Amino acid sequence: MAEVNKPLKINERLALTTYITDVESHIQVDNEKCKDCVTKACLYVCPAKVYELKDGKIIAHYEACLELGGCIIACHQMGNKGITWKYPKGGQGVVFKYG
Ligand code: SF4
Repeated sequence: MAEVNKPLKINERLALTTYITDVESHIQVDNEKCKDCVTKACLYVCPAKVYELKDGKIIAHYEACLELGGCIIACHQMGNKGITWKYPKGGQGVVFKYG
């Protein structure tokens, strides 16, 4: 029997999140800017691990975005301003439950 009051780990909580995924990404990454970025801050600030360094390029897995906006602040304050970010189109993206 599962322990009812056991706190969930972050990956377990993220697995409960619902998304309505847009066909277009609301996150654009300019890898020309990223290649000169020393901090690669985007890789560390996102709790959903949207950003991945693969074959020397930053990839944004936008479908997992929680829309916190921390990545663009970190990128523009500590990185090389490679991220262009906007909210997904109305009704799409992460679905928050209230109450
Ligand atoms: S922090 Fe910004 S500029 Fe630096 S690697 Fe990430 S997306 Fe590119």
